[in-house]
Amino acid sequence: MVPKLTVITTGGTIATPTGKGEKRLTATDFARDLSDSPKWADVTWKDFLNVPSSSLSPEDVLQLTHLAEEEIQGGADGVVITHGTDVLEETAYLLSLFWTHTQPVILTGAMRSAGSAGADGPRNLTAAIVAAGSRKSLGRGPLVVLNDEIHAASQVTKMHSWAVDTFTSEYGPVGIINQWNEVHYHRRTENRETLPRPSSLNEPVALITAGMGMDETMVDALIAGGFRAMVIEAAGLGSLPPAMQRGLERTALERAIAVVASRCTFGGTVAGRSSKGIIRAGSLSGIKARLKLMVGMSLYGEDREAIGNLFRQQSWKGEPDDRER
Ligand code: ASP
Repeated sequence: MVPKLTVITTGGTIATPTGKGEKRLTATDFARDLSDSPKWADVTWKDFLNVPSSSLSPEDVLQLTHLAEEEIQGGADGVVITHGTDVLEETAYLLSLFWTHTQPVILTGAMRSAGSAGADGPRNLTAAIVAAGSRKSLGRGPLVVLNDEIHAASQVTKMHSWAVDTFTSEYGPVGIINQWNEVHYHRRTENRETLPRPSSLNEPVALITAGMGMDETMVDALIAGGFRAMVIEAAGLGSLPPAMQRGLERTALERAIAVVASRCTFGGTVAGRSSKGIIRAGSLSGIKARLKLMVGMSLYGEDREAIGNLFRQQSWKGEPDDRER
């Protein structure tokens, strides 16, 4: 029996035509373009948005999660979401935090516009549909499919601004879809974290990157600008220039919730909370730590203890780790 899937569109390059003045692709166009290919699934097509992904907000992702969930509750075996690649990893991370169903939800997109030579959109969409319809994808949490690779939504990151093999995970993809459209998984993602889904997700949380020789000026400017929470991407395992470190310690003790992530793509900071009240992001990148902090503040307000605990469990490898450092 062919699986029942829903494809929800949100825009991005996968929906962007090559020629100027051409209409952006909607669900109807995707359905028509795939109508000649083998019937991998019985697909229902739905438009949600048609925007560059940089226009999306965390609130949009809450709504998208809700829509995908409605499809599963209505009997779909899986959901595919077409999405711009620029902030795809942020949607992927939030979906991974909120998705509690066994059925897969799979994000896909494209690096080359529709109709351009070597366009990757049609292949990525087909591969995502094949993966979402596979029984092997059950119970793996949200996934990201591009370039014939399957990545865990919690771990994937965009590494290159234009290359088609831009999506990478620290420990590699969890699986592949080969040229015969067979789905093969190599490993499971252990201990995927889920959190309660808040009713809104718009707490202002700042994100800045520390550079050589910076001092407390930026941190103070954020406080002056009204921020009560911030994520600083620090060097290496979490080191900051001394004046910035002192400014942040003052801030973390008295004025705002401060999380330090690593500005390195992989590896993260040491886990847990430092002695000066600064929370460490562990394995999370700065952009993911910002989203987690937004979720934490939506759930627990400015309760530092509760928010610190959320991050204390964020070890290097995404496994629970409550070592105090
Ligand atoms: N600008 C596009 C976006 O919506 C880029 C892409 O989809 O690759 O993210």
